[in-house]
Amino acid sequence: MKEATLVLIKPDGLKKSLTGNILTRLSETKLDIIAARIVHVSAELAKKHYEALTDKPFFEDLIQYIRGEFHEKRKVMAMVYYGEGAINKVRALAGSTNPEEADAVSIRGQYGRITTKGVYENVIHASAHKKDAEREIKLWFQPEEIIVDLYSTKAGEKRTCNEVWAL
Ligand code: UDP
Ligand code: MG
Repeated sequence: MKEATLVLIKPDGLKKSLTGNILTRLSETKLDIIAARIVHVSAELAKKHYEALTDKPFFEDLIQYIRGEFHEKRKVMAMVYYGEGAINKVRALAGSTNPEEADAVSIRGQYGRITTKGVYENVIHASAHKKDAEREIKLWFQPEEIIVDLYSTKAGEKRTCNEVWAL
């Protein structure tokens, strides 16, 4: 069955100019990109994304890391990949969480590092399983930003726009 997974190119990946390389590696999977955006990550979004790790000693550093506070790039590239076995395919390409233990030719093995503070700067996030993928995709994207109907939706309140494009 087709499934969706959230992929983030983290601030270190953007700072190291790895976007092209990472997208090329991901294209080996033959999965479809069904959503993409560049996101300035708020503290709220960062904490929700990593809420399962709240009690970990590295949590505060992790929030700073994903918000780009250790890099000049205060942004993340968020994407949804879709297709057969998408979650495991992307996780396998990404490699293990610890970049020193990751397969040398995985994305994290090739480009990740452990900082002197002990943070694993591993350039990419990939959802670990189906439940996480749904929770994470719903955090990072609104239904209309994804070109496949992944999850059930309900009518929303009409949004008021502060700005529209000038002619
Ligand atoms: N992380 C870290 N130190 C650790 C474990 C995790 O710095 O000991 C960071 C790392 O950037 C990782 C993120 O926290 O990608 C989320 O951790 P998780 O265990 O969910 O690993 P992932 O699912 O990203 O492989
Ligand atoms: Mg995880």
